[in-house]
Amino acid sequence: MSKVFILAEVTNGHIAKSTGELATFAKRIGSVTAIVLNGKDAALEAELANYSIDEVRFLSGVDFNSYSAAASASAISALITAEGPTALLISSTAQGKEIAARVSVRTKSGIITDAIDLDSNLIATQSVFGGSTTVHSKVNSPCAVVTLRPNSIEVVSVASTFTVLESSVTEAELGANSTRDRVLSVAAAVSGGRPELTEAKIIVSGGRGTNGDFGAVEAIADALGAAVGASRAATDAGWYPHSHQVGQTGKTVSPSVYMACGISGAIQHRAGMQTSKLIVAINKDPDAPIFDIADFGVVGDLFNVLPQATAAILAKKA
Ligand SMILES: Cc1cc2nc3c(=O)[nH]c(=O)nc-3n(C[C@H](O)[C@H](O)[C@H](O)COP(=O)(O)OP(=O)(O)OC[C@H]3O[C@@H](n4cnc5c(N)ncnc54)[C@H](O)[C@@H]3O)c2cc1C
Repeated sequence: MSKVFILAEVTNGHIAKSTGELATFAKRIGSVTAIVLNGKDAALEAELANYSIDEVRFLSGVDFNSYSAAASASAISALITAEGPTALLISSTAQGKEIAARVSVRTKSGIITDAIDLDSNLIATQSVFGGSTTVHSKVNSPCAVVTLRPNSIEVVSVASTFTVLESSVTEAELGANSTRDRVLSVAAAVSGGRPELTEAKIIVSGGRGTNGDFGAVEAIADALGAAVGASRAATDAGWYPHSHQVGQTGKTVSPSVYMACGISGAIQHRAGMQTSKLIVAINKDPDAPIFDIADFGVVGDLFNVLPQATAAILAKKA
């Protein structure tokens, strides 16, 4: 049976949902080994038991967080060389893609980045040119390195029992080139208490139609427990941080509900949110392209519609 490695993503001390997504993809291909950097951790082990995983491999001995991606790539590459998995799946984050690229070079493996699907024959699907073109491709080298966009698959949660292994590595084994850069400090981004954009079940996004006033968007987001997103027009104007941009050059999201407020629905915006389960659009232009993909639409001024909707939601919750 093929063995597939997935790199567990740990966010704020917890296994990120994207790890469950990688496990779900990997299970289509073969037995799943989750690699966890930074040593054995009972709490992380318990969280991994929610997903279809056959083996958990803790890499210990050094603090990977204190090195750049090169150190993680070095340790993972050594494991691939020793165990010869069919594939390594990593989440398509900036850090994930850097590790994937380095592992690909070190192990002479082919790489596919930003895939949105991966079938049992390791054929990956990518959505390119703003979602207008779908590409299917496959790596021919013995190990395929594939990064998968978060929220591309519904996590299959099955309580699993797995073998737990711990491999200790030393700084010398990682190599001088991989440990030359040191991380001196890390500052967590201020999230304002709202859910992370890529993890949120509900996202309310604002565009140029807000005219820079995100108050109504934030108010309904808070009433719904939602994350706040923005179009590039809004982030380029400096109205909202670039880290909240949804779209081709921003984040790809696939929440249960996506509310687009004062967003026209340009192809580059749609590329980042069109796989949302339910799309709600509020726009004063009845011909706005966002209505073509919306499940529910309100033609109206967001400054009239949103406060009324927020009041109704709060009244229902009271
Ligand atoms: C290479 C490239 C990459 C790009 N990447 C991205 C990306 O990642 N994400 C992204 O979003 N864009 C991206 N863009 C930009 C994209 O093409 C659009 O310009 C952008 O999405 C438009 O943002 P918008 O919908 O907020 O603004 P507009 O297109 O100006 O639309 C504003 C909408 O608000 C409505 N409106 C105005 N006032 C109100 C009101 N009071 N109430 C209700 N509705 C109102 C208007 O009717 C209009 O439909 C990219 C472009 C390029 C070329």
